[in-house]
Amino acid sequence: MTETHSVVRGDSGPQVARLVASRVLDVPDFPRPGVLFKDLMPLFADGAVFREVIDGIVAYHGRESFDVVVGIEARGFVVAAAIAYATGVGVVPVRKAGKLPRPAYSASYALEYGEATLEVHEDAFTAGHRVLVVDDVLATGGTAEATLGLVERAGGTVAGFTVLLELAFLGARERLAPRPVHALLTV
Ligand code: AMP
Repeated sequence: MTETHSVVRGDSGPQVARLVASRVLDVPDFPRPGVLFKDLMPLFADGAVFREVIDGIVAYHGRESFDVVVGIEARGFVVAAAIAYATGVGVVPVRKAGKLPRPAYSASYALEYGEATLEVHEDAFTAGHRVLVVDDVLATGGTAEATLGLVERAGGTVAGFTVLLELAFLGARERLAPRPVHALLTV
């Protein structure tokens, strides 16, 4: 047998899940020993696949369900900008500490080793704006939890949260509940 028929699953069905799976490279021991880094650069670099993935995200949520897209630094910016362009909404960046030029809300959270801080401009959202939050990979969920909290603190309403790839064994979905997680590929 030359082909393995392992089940490829995701919240938008097996076809797009397989597409994402076909464009992920596993990089062992990056950025630290013991971490299996999921590199989605091949997906971003393939125009046809990238477009299909972006269209899949928009179709899942529905064009009318959000007013603005938030991308999480840095690979989330790539996904957010494409969704924004495809749907005619704007992009708000959630950035690592110290990068934003004007007054910002901060949220710190624990990493495996140490702590990370994310920030969003205080005036990033019009009150009640429905915000679609996107990132490339969902691992422990700390980054997502901090970001969703920042969106709400800044006056936005979280309309959805999408990642291209979710590492299910780390339990982020349970951590973020009851907020829904939309993952194109769950491994
Ligand atoms: P976490 O806060 O643990 O959910 O980590 C999510 C953030 O870290 C995302 O912005 C990802 O880009 C990045 N990340 C964490 N783990 C990985 C991994 N194994 N492969 C690629 N990116 C990762």
